[in-house]
Amino acid sequence: MIKCNIDVLNKNEVMKGIFMQLLKNKILTDGIVNDEEILKVDNFLNHQIDVSLLNEIGKEFKRRFADAKVDKILTVEASGIAIAAIASQYFDNAPVVFAKKQESRNLDSEKYSSKVYSFTKAREYDIMVSKRYLSEGENILVVDDFLAKGGAALGMIDLIEQAGANLVGVGIVIEKSYQDGSAVLKERGVRLESLARIASLKDKMIRFL
Ligand code: 5GP
Repeated sequence: MIKCNIDVLNKNEVMKGIFMQLLKNKILTDGIVNDEEILKVDNFLNHQIDVSLLNEIGKEFKRRFADAKVDKILTVEASGIAIAAIASQYFDNAPVVFAKKQESRNLDSEKYSSKVYSFTKAREYDIMVSKRYLSEGENILVVDDFLAKGGAALGMIDLIEQAGANLVGVGIVIEKSYQDGSAVLKERGVRLESLARIASLKDKMIRFL
């Protein structure tokens, strides 16, 4: 019995190692450093989408949150949607809700909203979710493409709190660890799982932690 548990543990660690190397290689091969703050990955994550890589990302999120009960996955438009939708298949097809950034006649007037400062766009914007799609007591996993200063993640956590739902944790594909988002989330006691962690983009070189 003990041997069996150890085997499962080892297998997970091996799979995690293989996946992390795959993701790092992809970032090194296709990532473009714009300046010390912005990494462009629109060849596989933000514009053109590498579906098989997203499948592996979904499986890895499931491995990291295997012990958690996840009723819904929450993300923010636009880049988070594909990541969340593919990941959902590994969480028993949990519904995916994406926070909208723009008011529209399609959006219910009964909604939760939160203000987010985007340092990539250098402006503040609202994120909104209809009250119909986040409910009290639901267990919500937040996923997003990047974690930088934590504004987007904190905004989504605020929506979850307004709804009286439970935050399971935050799953991030690429964390830029030299910005303060991860520290801010950890200070709040948030369970954070980042699949790749970048130490620096200095001199246009991608260095991992
Ligand atoms: P934060 O809110 O944590 O400061 O930034 C996270 C959000 O900004 C993500 O939703 C992501 O869309 C965007 N973002 C932050 N840094 C980067 C980056 O280096 N590259 C790209 N493509 N997006 C980023």
